[in-house]
Amino acid sequence: MILSGLTAAAPVGTTNITIDSSLVTRYDHCNRPGIFALTFDDGPSQYSYDLAKALHQQGIKATFFINGNNTVDILNNSTPTSTSDGMKTYLEVIRYYYDSGHELASHTFEHLNLANKSEAEVRRQMNAQSDVIFAAIGRRPQLMRPPEGALDDNASRVLKELGYSNVMWDVDTKDWVMSGLAAEQAIVQTIMDADTPTTLGHIGLLHDIHASTVNTLVPWITQYVREKGLQFVTVSDCIGVDAYHPVV
Ligand SMILES: [Zn+2]
Repeated sequence: MILSGLTAAAPVGTTNITIDSSLVTRYDHCNRPGIFALTFDDGPSQYSYDLAKALHQQGIKATFFINGNNTVDILNNSTPTSTSDGMKTYLEVIRYYYDSGHELASHTFEHLNLANKSEAEVRRQMNAQSDVIFAAIGRRPQLMRPPEGALDDNASRVLKELGYSNVMWDVDTKDWVMSGLAAEQAIVQTIMDADTPTTLGHIGLLHDIHASTVNTLVPWITQYVREKGLQFVTVSDCIGVDAYHPVV
């Protein structure tokens, strides 16, 4: 049987162009070839300090999209975490990101899906998280990633008004599915083995709350990206937007 009348799906493209100027600008990839922005969501966690340290020791800069109160409550959790440099509070952990050359960005205060939320709630999530990052480093973030990648026009307008850029990704390792390293490798290789010299740099999505990500995926992907000849950059470098609001 021949089916007729089917309409081809519109091609899914990645673009950095936002048509409606009242909406937040969205970035899915870097602005030039030859680079890779390694990003980690949902932390900090017990693994984060030594992850940041190991990357730093390898000359790799990453960007951490942090929640103030998700797996840990950064400002109110007085229980320090054990690191290779002794016990650290989580405020000290995220300050260490900054001190070791990584970037801090917002993933909302409570990892809230921002779609279908009131303007007041979107502001609360963003401003509370900005306060956490300010408490750690004295700077306020202007890069954010919405939990679950979800935004509606209402949230998008609030983010724009607050001065944020929306940083999505084009290499989703799906590490949160916990399917194992081979499955994660297959996803990344399917995308990146198709690269040409003119392919724009990638934004890779990982989660530093999983031991498997830190212990197996990160060592593999950092080596793989380097074998591809790509240079690790922070998100601000990747998209050409400052990570923090100007100091006033
Ligand atoms: Zn998340």
